[in-house]
Amino acid sequence: MHIYSTHAVYFWLWYDSGMKTHHGSCHCGAIAYTIEADIEKVFECNCSHCHRKGFLLAFIPGTQFTLERGGDALTEYRFNKKHIAHLFCNTCGVQSFGRATNAEGKETIAINVRTLPELSLETLTIEPIDGKNF
Ligand SMILES: [Zn+2]
Repeated sequence: MHIYSTHAVYFWLWYDSGMKTHHGSCHCGAIAYTIEADIEKVFECNCSHCHRKGFLLAFIPGTQFTLERGGDALTEYRFNKKHIAHLFCNTCGVQSFGRATNAEGKETIAINVRTLPELSLETLTIEPIDGKNF
């Protein structure tokens, strides 16, 4: 009974967090994911990689990300210091997200918000990142 109650409280805290649920996918649909996040600000990085892919990125903790399907349809690409796993769909080539570990050792997910079809990009604040000069 005690365990049940504790879980109920955690569920309530999660449910009442007020964060929006967003559903994302690659173009062919092989990869689908869900996130719990309020996306208001996104980052546009000018490094050689982000520039080519046209990313608008939102960074969220790994705990707010769920891969719904397509784990075996992802190819990983790493470059430079190889800290970030850029994951793209084997079929359509779309990169929906990347994974990295932050300074505290916790998983961080970089969401390519262009793969959230219901998100209106015009409502977002876009902040530039000077990745080219990191
Ligand atoms: Zn795909």
